[in-house]
Amino acid sequence: MSGDTLPPLRDVIAAHGLAADKRFGQHFLLDLNLTAKIARLCGDLPDSTAVEIGPGPGGLTRALLSEGAARVIAIEKDARFLPALADISAAFGNRLSVIEADALKVGREALGLAAGERAVIAANLPYNVGTALFTGWLEAEPPWWSRAVLMFQKEVAERIVARTGEDAYGRLAILTAARAKAKYAFTLPARAFTPPPKVDSAVVVVDPLLGGERFSDVEALSVVTASAFGQRRKTLRKSLAQAASQTRASAEELLTACGIDPGARAETIPPDGFMALAKAWRAARSA
Ligand code: SAM
Repeated sequence: MSGDTLPPLRDVIAAHGLAADKRFGQHFLLDLNLTAKIARLCGDLPDSTAVEIGPGPGGLTRALLSEGAARVIAIEKDARFLPALADISAAFGNRLSVIEADALKVGREALGLAAGERAVIAANLPYNVGTALFTGWLEAEPPWWSRAVLMFQKEVAERIVARTGEDAYGRLAILTAARAKAKYAFTLPARAFTPPPKVDSAVVVVDPLLGGERFSDVEALSVVTASAFGQRRKTLRKSLAQAASQTRASAEELLTACGIDPGARAETIPPDGFMALAKAWRAARSA
């Protein structure tokens, strides 16, 4: 068997009785043009290890291997898919290895990457854990990935790439901007999936910032953005009081030190402003 001679995904699903299980957020992408399009966004696959979360019956997995990925490490929680994935591994010269686990519990160490190696992450993410996985990858220090090509619910993708002042702008866009460059690649209608989910999906391409461009104090950033967006209709003078109460400074003092109008609302402040606030918060807390 070679990659070309593997049976069509629909036949694999039928032969192995792989009915989608809602508990695992299973919506399969069976269109080979779309899986190839996602794989091509991954960049230099022949020189990379790709880490795929939730391969399911293996549509995207096959695409990553067909595009020449040197190695694919797939993390799948639902053991029903393992026989179908073993067939894919055999067809592609064992370039695929599968870890049966909850991806939320798999750290860099379990992936067996070489020292200093950074992988490409590719995934049609299960909706229930997609955001938690993504924020974990953003926070990982140092980043063990060089690019992430990720499918989310469209609404989550919009929150990742949102610009200051847009409805979707908030904590996720700010954390993303502090740690990475994210680009909205394309939208997929719900009907592209089997079974179709209730909402459309979208693919984002995320490259981590490195060195001096990367904001390091994610804890302080999380405190100030939680406080500011926890009461997003209030002025920052009021909403930031909670974060300021953990320091020796008032919200007004923190804001003025950063050149931010205390009468402004959180959604009008760009990510740079929140990074400055996080630094001021840290300094006032340590003072
Ligand atoms: N990649 C396949 C595709 O595109 O057709 C399946 C995508 S489906 C949206 C999500 C996949 O993630 C399922 O295979 C599901 O079993 C798996 N999954 C769900 N939760 C998981 C978790 N916590 N860790 C690892 N895999 C998980």
